[in-house]
Amino acid sequence: MISQSTITQVRERADILQVIGEAVPSLKRHGRSFTGLCPFHKEKTPSFHVSPDRGFFHCFGCKESGSVIDFVMKHEGATFPEAVRSLAERFNIQVEEDNAPGAAEAERARRQKDELYAAMSVAATFYERQLRDHEHKDHALAELARRGLAFGKDATMDEALTAFRMGYAPAGWDGLAVYLRQQGVSPIAAETVGLLVPRSAGAGHYDRFRHRLMFAVTDMQGRVVAFSGRALAPLPGDARDPGDKPAKYINSPESPIYTKGALLFGLFQARHAIRQEEEAIVVEGNFDVVSLHARGIANVVAPLGTAFTHEQAKLLKRFSSRVVLLFDGDAAGQKAVKASRAPARDAGLVTKVASLPEGTDPDELVRKKGTQALGDVLSTAKGMLEYLIDAELDQGFSAADAREKLARVQEVLRLVAEEADPMEQMLQKSRADQIVSRLDLHGLRFSRDDESHPPTIAALERAVRAAVARERPPPGPAPERARVRTRSPGSEERKAIVEALIEWPVLLDDPEIHEVLGMLEGASVSFVSALRRARISPEDAGGSPDGRGGQIDTEVFLGALPETLRIYAKERLVAGRFFEPGEAKVYLLENANKLKRLLLSREVSELARENEVGASDWEKVLERAEEASARARARHGVKGPKT
Ligand SMILES: [Zn+2]
Repeated sequence: MISQSTITQVRERADILQVIGEAVPSLKRHGRSFTGLCPFHKEKTPSFHVSPDRGFFHCFGCKESGSVIDFVMKHEGATFPEAVRSLAERFNIQVEEDNAPGAAEAERARRQKDELYAAMSVAATFYERQLRDHEHKDHALAELARRGLAFGKDATMDEALTAFRMGYAPAGWDGLAVYLRQQGVSPIAAETVGLLVPRSAGAGHYDRFRHRLMFAVTDMQGRVVAFSGRALAPLPGDARDPGDKPAKYINSPESPIYTKGALLFGLFQARHAIRQEEEAIVVEGNFDVVSLHARGIANVVAPLGTAFTHEQAKLLKRFSSRVVLLFDGDAAGQKAVKASRAPARDAGLVTKVASLPEGTDPDELVRKKGTQALGDVLSTAKGMLEYLIDAELDQGFSAADAREKLARVQEVLRLVAEEADPMEQMLQKSRADQIVSRLDLHGLRFSRDDESHPPTIAALERAVRAAVARERPPPGPAPERARVRTRSPGSEERKAIVEALIEWPVLLDDPEIHEVLGMLEGASVSFVSALRRARISPEDAGGSPDGRGGQIDTEVFLGALPETLRIYAKERLVAGRFFEPGEAKVYLLENANKLKRLLLSREVSELARENEVGASDWEKVLERAEEASARARARHGVKGPKT
């Protein structure tokens, strides 16, 4: 457990401008805050604001917002402790651990893991070096060349091959074992992460990966946690029995730093592109990932030799909610799509499916027909349900016998009934007709009145319709957003007053402002009380008169506000309209004066209306109105109306 004081220090001392500046090169000064193109959604005009004084960022487009820690979590896909630790390291902040029970234990486990990460890192360097220097490196390079990949061809390709730490594990039994020993890596650590295997006879270890092209698997911090090794053509003189072919891929076993199905191959390298494109492409193999990256298509990941798991779907959702599965059009590909459905649905991913012509690798398509060809395939992607229904009803349906037809239609009914996506649900009414008409194409017409058709089919049609009707009713109108109510008189002015106060809460101490606060009502009162609660005394803030001195704790501030006001509050937090409190005060008082006049005229007209009742003497009404007006003016401290 990281101590609260460390977290506070990180929030205060980690330079948010420096951290965000690296991720958002377009960041430019704009008053007291900075604006740039949002790293979390695609945009052409900057709506991403950073307030270094506040240590806060907010995007007016996609509404992402938060502290420097939140930024690192969202941008790097890091967990909270990971983000705190990496910022602490970067800004030289000592991380204190809470002495909670089990803290010492946790610390030991962490140190052990660090040793495992180190072993993996040393191995990755070793494999990379072998791909450059080893006498048999050509075998591995030839395998890369088969997918049109080579070093020194173009910058994007070199970048991708380096980013994926492509390497070569040499033949022989102890190339890595010897190197690890030289580098001081304990064989036990290397065995724990599956780099070395203990010899069954005698002491010592041998290399797990031999004569293979190596793909490094990284976690979301970019640390190597596993390898995937692809078999290569045998070396000359290899006396291997031709029937004894090695497995095409060998993967690292699970270890304390690697859980199968918990990571996606390439996600670390693809994370920024996925955010930018607002879409992730999931392909089947590691090679597909690397070769698409090498061709400039960087929002691509693969599920690492497993089916798409719930954990992987959730991980991906941190970067985008839209996913395209780009699998082979063959039966295995179809099966993989089906298996992906539940995890994708449960994670809330909007999933589409695009299929490649059978036996085509995605990079082959790009290599032969250009990037656009892949774009074309992706643009024909179908919704998951539509894809699965098509798969049941189109391919070979006509040729199927009655029993198989029945089974397939039943499968379709099940698919429809299982659908949970609200968008898909809304489409189901029309989908029922679609299904029916698709079956029509196969000569299975549905007309309950037509006795010439087999009753089983008619029953199926009813079942299709019933399944649709049984579905939960289409979702009601979208949840009501914080609606802007019709403006009550003075709401603009109150809003302006609140704006000035959020920017310079120090104004709350100004006696001239106190009487203004009495004119506030509704939401503006909530803002003032939240500001009061969140004030940081100047001593706590390091006594600086500028910057955050006398300012507020943004978390406390936002926490004290009702949900509906938070987005607006976040927008105001990153505003940098007034350079100093004096400027904000002038603006505030101007609006306070306008508000006073408004309140006054309202009061006068109300009084006048009161007097109208039963008043017949014109002179008298005017006289009373004048009196009322003077009284009200005196009460609100406003001089006579402008002449
Ligand atoms: Zn945004």
